[in-house]
Amino acid sequence: MRDRANAGASTAQHHAICVECGRVSDDRWRGWLAERVDDPETGEPPQVGLYCPECAEREFGWPRRR
Ligand SMILES: [Zn+2]
Repeated sequence: MRDRANAGASTAQHHAICVECGRVSDDRWRGWLAERVDDPETGEPPQVGLYCPECAEREFGWPRRR
């Protein structure tokens, strides 16, 4: 049984969904990458896309290895 009081300031769900493959993160987002995905030409507010480690590596070569 986990003690929510020790989980941190917020008990809200903090799961990310990969914009590429729809994979759901764990609550630590380990290895995940947040990247701006908005198109400046549309004039829309900035949006951040979340990428799972596999997609981050494929799309951005991230984490950078050299
Ligand atoms: Zn993905």
